Amino acid sequence: MSLETHQFDAVIIGGGGAGLRASLQLAQAGVKVAVLSKVFPTRSHTVAAQGGIAAALGNVAEDNWLWHMYDTIKGSDFLGDQDAIEFMCKNAAKAIIELEHFGMPFDRLDNGKIFQRPFGGMTKNFGETPISRTCAVADRTGHAMLHTLYQRNIQANTQFFVEWFALDLMRDAEGDVLGVIALEIETGEIHIFQAKTTMLATGGAGRIFQASTNAFINTGDGLGMAARAGLPLQDMEFWQFHPTGVLHAGVLITEGVRGEGGYLVNSEGERFMERYAPHAKDLASRDVIARASATEIKAGRGVGKNKDAVYLKLDHLGEALINKRLPGIREIAKTFANVDPIHDPIPVVPTAHYMMGGIPTNLDGQVVLEGEKPVHGLYAVGECACVSVHGANRLGSNSLLDLVVFGKAAGDKMVAEIAQNKVHKPLPIDVADATLARVSRLEKVQGESVVEVGDAMRRAMQTHCGVFRFPNLLSAGVDEIDAVVARAQHIVIKDKSQVFNTARVEALELDNLIEVAVATMHAANNRTESRGAHAREDYSERDDENWLTHSLFYKQNNRLAYKPVRLKPLTVESFEPKKRVY
Ligand SMILES: Cc1cc2nc3c(=O)[nH]c(=O)nc-3n(C[C@H](O)[C@H](O)[C@H](O)COP(=O)(O)OP(=O)(O)OC[C@H]3O[C@@H](n4cnc5c(N)ncnc54)[C@H](O)[C@@H]3O)c2cc1C
Repeated sequence: MSLETHQFDAVIIGGGGAGLRASLQLAQAGVKVAVLSKVFPTRSHTVAAQGGIAAALGNVAEDNWLWHMYDTIKGSDFLGDQDAIEFMCKNAAKAIIELEHFGMPFDRLDNGKIFQRPFGGMTKNFGETPISRTCAVADRTGHAMLHTLYQRNIQANTQFFVEWFALDLMRDAEGDVLGVIALEIETGEIHIFQAKTTMLATGGAGRIFQASTNAFINTGDGLGMAARAGLPLQDMEFWQFHPTGVLHAGVLITEGVRGEGGYLVNSEGERFMERYAPHAKDLASRDVIARASATEIKAGRGVGKNKDAVYLKLDHLGEALINKRLPGIREIAKTFANVDPIHDPIPVVPTAHYMMGGIPTNLDGQVVLEGEKPVHGLYAVGECACVSVHGANRLGSNSLLDLVVFGKAAGDKMVAEIAQNKVHKPLPIDVADATLARVSRLEKVQGESVVEVGDAMRRAMQTHCGVFRFPNLLSAGVDEIDAVVARAQHIVIKDKSQVFNTARVEALELDNLIEVAVATMHAANNRTESRGAHAREDYSERDDENWLTHSLFYKQNNRLAYKPVRLKPLTVESFEPKKRVY
């Protein structure tokens, strides 16, 4: 079957903050670059980022990128790679100023400098006291950032393919990546995008869980594509549960609320974080607070009809501050929790939020194999990538920073790689066969629906792989998720009358979600320690002797391998692992 073929120097899959920062770098260098996005770019999940973007600008109080680096390493529970963390924190201030020059409308202090607010785990002088390090545009920072980057891309002539769904990477016998196969959602046609360099910037996969702050589009497509191409997925056992998702709705209430002075209380009206993190209290890191809330609920001190939530109290901040700094939060609370936070607390629960793991890369965004050998022609940036700056637990406001710092670095590296490759490598004749077979299996008449199989996956993940992980539940979870894989082979599209191929896209998204879920469950079952967001009942301590390692999951035979954490920074001394208290 011959498919229509497009040729570009660079193809970027994903029009979120990561993809658009990279594409801008390429377009401005005069490279022929295409961005494929399954939704209109400014609807990517980056648009929902609320609280802000971290950088040691020192606008509110003295600050230092080395303190930011220390906080990030500690937040990662020492699993983050220290060279990557140094690179990110050192380049943060430059990245903010660059965004500001692109036109991003940051909030201001009275002296005209960029406003900064406190965020969890961000401290002064290596852990002394909380510091204001997070730059923000009210509680709509991602919205401002994404629109700014999109407009800059339009100006730079980036070519957009909107509502195109990338299906699979194309690799040749040498393992080089030659582009991507994609479905035009409107027509249902499958095309080939041949590229000298290909980037995955497909974002997160929070939809593997029943309760998630993530958009419906966060289905881990890049990870599915990487796994099917034989590439490893790194550190998939580490999922961040955000302490403040609205009860029953999942919608996020930003940590910025606690940064502005809000705090959590239990059914007895007690500010319980004072017990769990006497120092940082409600600004401890997210894994610590999520476990504290879950423990309070389990001990019967939850609020609400079923005692299955805790309260986030912010009425004491006053109407004026809430309206100025947290207007979106007030709206969300009214709409999804039926409370006005000016008067009443918001019922919240720990909710799946962020994937620390992803496709392994180096500091230039190149996807790497074991031994750090780059895969020729393939890059990954943003939440789908694992460089790894977040390790076992991400600090709030470090993801937006990760997108722009590594988006730019990867863009630069791609420009250099393209300059060395004048022609496209030839495509193998059978390059699309497996993909076409995967898509056409959905045309069968007999089988289960996407909803049935998807529900089974989400239930398995929610029950067996949540905030706390129990040995018997984990091993049962592995069996359950492996059974879901088998069922997914026999999915059919029940309602063939659906227009615009949306049913087909949902089925193909489920393929990707399942790849992510399988990797998560197997990696979690295998890691017999507690570190960051991975908290096991049977191994409740961190075990640096055996587990100061990144996991690598391979789809073939569900194989797990391990590689060392890069403990050596680029120019400064290492931060030695030590006990993590807040
Ligand atoms: C509610 C919420 C609030 C957050 N707040 C903050 C915050 O305040 N600060 C912070 O630092 N972090 C925050 N985060 C995390 C952060 O926003 C995300 O990690 C980050 O925006 C992800 O950016 P990305 O570019 O990697 O992916 P996304 O922005 O998710 O973009 C993914 C892109 O890939 C495209 N895509 C995916 N699959 C395909 C496919 N198969 N074919 C074609 N296109 C595809 C999508 O269309 C989209 O354009 C928040 C996250 C959430 C969910």
